[in-house]
Amino acid sequence: EAVVRTTSFQHYLDQLYARFLDVRDGDVANYIPELAHVDADAFGMALVTVDGHVYQAGDSRTPFSIQSISKAFTYGIALEDQGPARVAEKIDVEPSGEAFNSISLEPKTGRPRNPMINAGAIVATSLVNGEDAAARLERILAKFEHYAGRPLGINPAIYESERSTGHRNRAIAHLLRNYEILEGDPEEPLDAYFRQCAIEVTARDLALMGATLANDGVNPITAVRALPSPLVPNVLAVMATCGMYDYSGNWIFQVGMPAKSGVGGGVVAVLPGQFGLAVYSPRLDAKGNSVRGIAVCESVSRDFGMHMLRVT
Ligand code: GLU
Repeated sequence: EAVVRTTSFQHYLDQLYARFLDVRDGDVANYIPELAHVDADAFGMALVTVDGHVYQAGDSRTPFSIQSISKAFTYGIALEDQGPARVAEKIDVEPSGEAFNSISLEPKTGRPRNPMINAGAIVATSLVNGEDAAARLERILAKFEHYAGRPLGINPAIYESERSTGHRNRAIAHLLRNYEILEGDPEEPLDAYFRQCAIEVTARDLALMGATLANDGVNPITAVRALPSPLVPNVLAVMATCGMYDYSGNWIFQVGMPAKSGVGGGVVAVLPGQFGLAVYSPRLDAKGNSVRGIAVCESVSRDFGMHMLRVT
């Protein structure tokens, strides 16, 4: 039974929204040109409990591109489709402590350090069942819809913008092909990865996706299973150790919840057995995390004593 279940929590969330509304620190990502065009000051948040209560404030229904947050969910699909042993041959689960776009590969094998950096994420996308990029993407979208409990789509302008400027990711994909970590044409998984990053969600969607992980892989509103139960701890583990870029250690220290953020300005945090919490606010700090996203999650964790490693 979820701990957060009172109407006063809605009041708390409204206050949190008001408290951080005027924060204007940070800048929107601009290395994907189209991302620079979003409303920098949009601010929404949502919390969904494992018993299906939804609390939201601000722009909780404003769509934005999921970007790196997709990595956690696609990694889950790869684990399901290939099995953890085969996935481990291709992607390690060691925090790199480096930026998301680092070329963080094992020196001899070329195996990416973890599935939350771009290199590992592109490989995870390649491991999703499907005969070509379109089929893989379809499967990814369908799975994400199980988590979110509604139909989702891809923002074509953001996809196109990243596809035409993503030279670094293209280089990473070809390097992975050189090591035979990727098989076949590296442009295929790369294209599916770009599209996956351009999937549009809202803070409410993301909170429900997080709540699905918190609820052992079952969407608490639709009762649809999105991830097999034994794989839930695996996905949450890489979120806990690698989910917040090179701030992941500080994050787990302060906030104490598995989480994933993306350069689109979204962040989702999961308290296992309790809730999913999501924030949308596109101004990012130097490490690529949403400034207000971190502030909100820190507050919820602190004010309710929600650090998952707390004993009492
Ligand atoms: N599509 C982005 C990239 O691969 C995602 C980055 C992110 O959100 O960290 O560069």
